[in-house]
Amino acid sequence: MRGFIYAAHPVRVLFGAGTLADLRGEVERLGRQRALLVSGSSQPDVVARAAEGLGDLVAARFDGAAMHTPVEVTERALAAAGDVDCVVSIGGGSATGLGKAVAVRRGIPLVAVATTYAGSEVTPTLGETSDGVKTTRTEPGILPATVIYDVDLTLGMPVGLSVVSGVNAMAHAVEALYSADANPAVDAMAVQSITLLASGLRRIVAAPDDADARADALAGAWLAGTCLGAVGMGLHHKLCHTLGGSFGLPHAETHTVVLPHAMAYNAAAAPEAMARVATALAASRPGDGGADGPAFAGRSARGQDAAAMMYDFVVEVGGPTSLAELGLKRDDIPAAAKLATAKPYPNPREVTEDGIAGLLADALAGTRPA
Ligand code: NAD
Repeated sequence: MRGFIYAAHPVRVLFGAGTLADLRGEVERLGRQRALLVSGSSQPDVVARAAEGLGDLVAARFDGAAMHTPVEVTERALAAAGDVDCVVSIGGGSATGLGKAVAVRRGIPLVAVATTYAGSEVTPTLGETSDGVKTTRTEPGILPATVIYDVDLTLGMPVGLSVVSGVNAMAHAVEALYSADANPAVDAMAVQSITLLASGLRRIVAAPDDADARADALAGAWLAGTCLGAVGMGLHHKLCHTLGGSFGLPHAETHTVVLPHAMAYNAAAAPEAMARVATALAASRPGDGGADGPAFAGRSARGQDAAAMMYDFVVEVGGPTSLAELGLKRDDIPAAAKLATAKPYPNPREVTEDGIAGLLADALAGTRPA
C-alpha cells in the first residue's frame, strides 16, 4: 500500500467548441469590470476576437508575452495595465505565464484562454526568467480562476507545434505516474491523458482540421496539466527546465526530444509506471487491437519498452528527436549535467552527473532508447 495526500485545485474549466464566446460572461461571473488582455503577438486575429467579445470590459492590452516569462516583460505589462481588476490571457504557455505573473503581483483573478497543449493554465506554478536564470514558484494565488478551452482555436495550430506541444503535455502525465506524490486519481488522469494525446496527435498529423482529434488532444492536455498541477515532477522536467532556462532551447521541442531518454533513464526504477505508459500508448491504436494488438504484442504488459515506444511515437508524428537539431552543443553537456544535478529532488532513479551526461549524449545524438 502507498499512502498519499491529494488536494484538487479549485479551477473552473469550460471546454468545448466556440467557448470563446463565453469569455465576457466568465469575467462578469467573477464580478470584474476592467480586464487587462495579455497575449503574444503571433495570433492577432484570435486576440481581436477575444477583445471584441469582451467589449467594454477591456481596459488595457499587452501583446508582448515571451517564452519563459522574462521579468522585464512582466514589468512592462504591469506598467501598461493601469487600474485593472482582472487579467485575461489568451495563447499558449507563454501568454498564460505572463497572465499569471501580472495577476499574482496585483492579487487579482486570471481568466486563461489556452490555445496550446502546454497545461500551465491549470497549475498554481509560475516559472520566470531574470538575468538568464529561471526560477519557479508554486502558490495558490497563481492558479487561474477560470480556464477556457475552445477547440476551434486549436484547429489552425500548425502540425509541428501541435506535436511538440502535445508531447510536452504527455511528459507531465508520464512523470506524474512515477511521481513521489502519485495517487490513484492522478494515475487515472495520466493514463487517459496519454491515450487521448497519442490518438489525437496521430489523427491531427493525418488531418490537421479534424475537430474530434483536436478535442481529444485538448482534453488530454487538460488532464496532463491537471497532473502537473497536482504532483511533483522528476528528472525530465528538471532537465528541460535547465536546457530551456540556461541554454535557450525551445520549451516544447526540448520536452519532445528528452522524454524518451528520461523514461529510459528511469525505466528500471519505475516498472509499474512504465507499464502504464506502454498500455496507454497501445490503447491509442484501437485499429491494432489496443494493448493486445499485434503492433504491441507483449510490450505493454512489461512496460520495459515504454521509452522506445515513446521514441517511435515521436518519430511517427514527425517530432524532433535530437538536441543537436535544437542547438545544444556537445561541449554544453558537462555544464548542463552539473546544473541539472545541483539540487536534489525526488526521482525514481538516483540522478547523478555522469548518468545525466550519458542521457544528454543520447538525446544530443537522437539515438533510439534500447
Ligand atoms: P508558447 O506559448 O510560447 O507558444 C508557442 C508559439 O505558438 C507562440 O508564437 C504562440 O503565439 C503560438 N501559438 C499559440 N497557440 C497557437 C495556436 N493555437 N495556433 C497557432 N499558433 C499558436 O509555447 P507553449 O509551449 O504553449 O508554452 C511554453 C511556455 O509555457 C514556457 O515558458 C513554459 O515554461 C511554460 N509552461 C509553464 C507551465 C507551468 O505550469 N507553469 C506548464 C507548461 C509550460
